[in-house]
Amino acid sequence: MKAIQFIAPGQPPELREVDKPTPGPGQVLLKITAAGACHSDDFVLNAPAGAFDYPLPMTLGHEGVGVIAEVGSGVRTVSEGTAVAVYGPWGCGTCYRCAEGQENYCLNAAELSITPPGLGTDGAMAEYLLVDDPRHLVPLGDLDPVGSVALTDAGLTPYHAIKASLPKLVGGTTAVVIGAGGLGHVGIQLLRHLTASRIIAVDVSEDKLAFAKEVGAHEAVLSNEDTVAEVRKFTGKQGATAVFDFVGYQPTIDMAMAMVGVLGDVTIVGIGDGVAAAKVGFFAQPYEVSVRAPYWGSRSELIEVLDLARDGVVRVETERFGLDDGLEAYRRLAAGTLRGRAVVVP
Ligand code: NAD
Ligand code: ZN
Repeated sequence: MKAIQFIAPGQPPELREVDKPTPGPGQVLLKITAAGACHSDDFVLNAPAGAFDYPLPMTLGHEGVGVIAEVGSGVRTVSEGTAVAVYGPWGCGTCYRCAEGQENYCLNAAELSITPPGLGTDGAMAEYLLVDDPRHLVPLGDLDPVGSVALTDAGLTPYHAIKASLPKLVGGTTAVVIGAGGLGHVGIQLLRHLTASRIIAVDVSEDKLAFAKEVGAHEAVLSNEDTVAEVRKFTGKQGATAVFDFVGYQPTIDMAMAMVGVLGDVTIVGIGDGVAAAKVGFFAQPYEVSVRAPYWGSRSELIEVLDLARDGVVRVETERFGLDDGLEAYRRLAAGTLRGRAVVVP
């Protein structure tokens, strides 16, 4: 079968012919119907040699949906022909965090070398994907595969990030979204539906700002040295109640810390260059600001996000590619010229 693979650090991915996997006991084989390209893929592809000990070549794609093609022996909870979404942050399934559905924070995954598909294990950018356990699968129902595949990360991650700030986002407050890309444009829609806040989007071009407004931002501000002052014109002395940084480089983290108000939340979702960090401490931030850097989301939250999509609350903007032009999807992602998410359809 064909697969888009990470070959070596610093090199672009390649479309290669690989063996179709066979499900072993307890495993499930999916025929992939759509796979999403995430900026995190770009980060791992360009990280210095040794930063990740992935077995290379490795098939990319940590956002995947498909139809169950085959089940291994002993699998009784799912059956062939069912359309499913893959919950990506696999855990051990037995520790306290996994018992809570928070496999993204599994206590044993690192020690047991359990990694997400596409981020350490062969992923969904292929004709077939091997899934270790049927509990990682959430029924897709009648959701469109192309339109919903990005919900597994670009939907789930902002949903988890925003959920923690919901009690603070009451009437009269402001929420700022920095980066209206794959994750950010879903985040804007979620904030618009789940909160009473005024939403300000921040991005680098007029096109991106127009896009942010189309998906629900009330205001849009260019990202430059004037951003904090521009945002403060809207928030006044109160500052922003929550800032969600879907970029995560030093300039955007500094901007988030400078626009947040007393008792506010700064949530750093973007991984930037991997080293940028917020300065916290008594004199470094407004009083009682909480700073979080969440990772992905829980299994139950994925079910919630898919339900929100069924209710028409979120609509992922997608640009569609075939496996044969999937490398172009990665080039466009790196160049920052995508509108929403790049989705590869094998
Ligand atoms: P994307 O490329 O689709 O979107 C990034 C957006 O940020 C683009 O619209 C771009 O124009 C904008 N941007 C870039 N520089 C900016 C700046 N200086 N100021 C304002 N906007 C700027 O990326 P994505 O797939 O949405 O991922 C966003 C980030 O989130 C990446 O760093 C990714 O690695 C990370 N991520 C984190 C998690 C997690 O669990 N924490 C999960 C998925 C992705
Ligand atoms: Zn991702």
